Amino acid sequence: GDLSNGAGADFYKIPAIKFTKLFINGEFVDSISGKTFETIDPRTGEVIANVAEGTKEDVDLAVKAAREAFDSGPWPRMPGVARAKIMLKFADLIDQNREELAALDAVDAGKLYNWLKNVDLPNIVNTLRYYAGAADKIHGETLKMSRELQGYTLMEPVGVVGHIIPWNFPSSLFFTKVSPALAAGCTMIVKPAEQTPLSALFYAHLAKQAGIPDGVLNVVPGFGPTAGAAITSHMDIDAVSFTGSTEVGRQVMEAAARSNLKKVSLELGGKSPLIIFDDADLDKAAELALIGILFNKGEICCAGSRVFVQEGIYDELEKKLVEKAKSWVVGDPFDPKVQQGPQCDKRQFDKILSYIEHGKREGATLLTGGKIIGDKGYYIEPTIFSNIKDDMLIAQDEIFGPVLALTKFKTIDEAILRANNTRYGLAAGIVTKNIDTANTVSRSVRAGTIWINCYFAFGDDVPFGGYKMSGFGRDYGLEALHKYMQVKSVVTPIYNSPW
Ligand code: ADP
Repeated sequence: GDLSNGAGADFYKIPAIKFTKLFINGEFVDSISGKTFETIDPRTGEVIANVAEGTKEDVDLAVKAAREAFDSGPWPRMPGVARAKIMLKFADLIDQNREELAALDAVDAGKLYNWLKNVDLPNIVNTLRYYAGAADKIHGETLKMSRELQGYTLMEPVGVVGHIIPWNFPSSLFFTKVSPALAAGCTMIVKPAEQTPLSALFYAHLAKQAGIPDGVLNVVPGFGPTAGAAITSHMDIDAVSFTGSTEVGRQVMEAAARSNLKKVSLELGGKSPLIIFDDADLDKAAELALIGILFNKGEICCAGSRVFVQEGIYDELEKKLVEKAKSWVVGDPFDPKVQQGPQCDKRQFDKILSYIEHGKREGATLLTGGKIIGDKGYYIEPTIFSNIKDDMLIAQDEIFGPVLALTKFKTIDEAILRANNTRYGLAAGIVTKNIDTANTVSRSVRAGTIWINCYFAFGDDVPFGGYKMSGFGRDYGLEALHKYMQVKSVVTPIYNSPW
């Protein structure tokens, strides 16, 4: 097929790139090695900018700054309401810079410009405000104990936090992690993904403008095995919060275990099932199945990449779904008509294509898609396979692209069994009008989030995270604050006790 627009169209624009250096202790600085790396425009494969490449020495400097800011700086010592005030200012500044920020992620990650500007960035602003609201409501419990003793718990910030984030949601995930950590009173080092460092550096600039004290929020772009590993193995980082692949998550946990046993939370891959029952509204179900796999080009950990359809409506649903997939618009992410931009980078593009080839070789039926689009950039057609066997690689591995495995089932028990036939457990969707079916499946599927008659319905107050090999720890909600805090128990004798 063709791209919806050619190069040279009006919306084919790259914003001015203002920030390309590391942000350490409140200043933009070159890396110690002087090295830089290229960040690439996935629409063309061309270089957008050269960004300072942080390595271990730079991470050491950032940790030193964060340590000082934690051990003797104002941030953890401020009343929560004072941190909140600064976080609210930070939120306002983001709101004022939505267009520029949206353009940075669009060009760096191939994400839809309008969606970023009108949905993701307003949500980010709300996330910061939500956690600003929590900053002065963090408290422990009073423990009655016995006649001799009483106690209480203090919720203390965990200390210096390392956030390692992936490239599929460079802005949203930055604030998923940074917002509760700021509210808790932590100081931090953020390592954005090497594919998408640009917006993170802009956020560093806005953080300073908002009045976040030097050393509290450091941003060190760089590669996983160098900058990332320096964070996970650092002796002076107290917690690491990671979002990314299960493979790298395992390395993060190993490095934490080998170094200082820092607290770890992992939000990893998924192969989430969407289960559509015979009584479903067909149009709605087809729409959810489509969005479930094509939203953000399939580059989302909780993509509904396995769709199970009950036999009574299977044929009709398959037909609707394929029709919808064929009219889905792939093209330049700045074009308002476009629904799907390019995959984030060449490696990802190649990986998705190799899974498509694998699916064909395994004997699945390619209903639609399967090909690249255009002669440059990393565009892939929306792709649907049917006749899936549950042990096929395309039914088991996280592909992280617009590739759906569509299957038929007969009974609710079969659906539950097959939905759980995965090493992952991030999310699941159920489409039915029957409340008993919805309740039964909700309880029986082992996943951190269950969406009933909706999909990708996130909320600041709704915890999100994995079961099984999708990781542990929860982002969002008051739950997320616990990743960035630790409990201190204080015990004291009461008057006249034998102590
Ligand atoms: P991939 O790019 O293979 O999909 P991930 O999505 O897991 O990898 O990457 C998420 C984040 O983890 C990125 O910021 C990446 O640089 C980082 N990372 C990769 N390898 C390591 C590692 N060994 N240690 C720490 N972080 C890493």
